[in-house]
Amino acid sequence: MSCAVRFETHSDEETRALGKELARLLPDCGVVLLIGELGAGKTTLAQGIVEGRGAASADEVASPTFTLIHEYGDPASVYHVDLYRLETADEARRLGLEDLVLQRALVLIEWGDRFPQLIPENRTEIFLAHAGEDHRVVQVSHKLSDSVPLASRT
Ligand code: ADP
Ligand code: MG
Repeated sequence: MSCAVRFETHSDEETRALGKELARLLPDCGVVLLIGELGAGKTTLAQGIVEGRGAASADEVASPTFTLIHEYGDPASVYHVDLYRLETADEARRLGLEDLVLQRALVLIEWGDRFPQLIPENRTEIFLAHAGEDHRVVQVSHKLSDSVPLASRT
């Protein structure tokens, strides 16, 4: 089951502000996939989400492209992961992705659609796409496993 909500932004600042808004709506713990091509605004949106959670300020949030995982808050309340450089699901396993997605934290995963077999079915997916110059379309969809009984969906 999933429902999508669509937003548009016209600058990186607007995308950060959208991230701050989304931070209020996302669950305390859970996986958020950030999906979209290079330069679509995944890291920019993550900056807003981390700041909105009060885990760090946006300018402290850098792309985890080389370090692969960043941790924000003490104790950690947000993890920010980038799977771009990983080639295989085994590399992602060695990174500890399967444990990470079970943490009691919000886990933001750029290129999170690369290894679907390692990602829990219950997750939020955020698709970002270029729509000309500084214009971006951001679609948020919350996936719930169909096997979860309706009564336990919150
Ligand atoms: P990704 O992580 O998807 O590769 P980044 O967030 O690192 O993308 O980079 C997005 C780039 O696009 C930045 O240079 C940013 O300044 C620029 N940009 C222009 N318009 C926007 C927008 N509306 N939202 C996000 N980034 C934008
Ligand atoms: Mg990025």
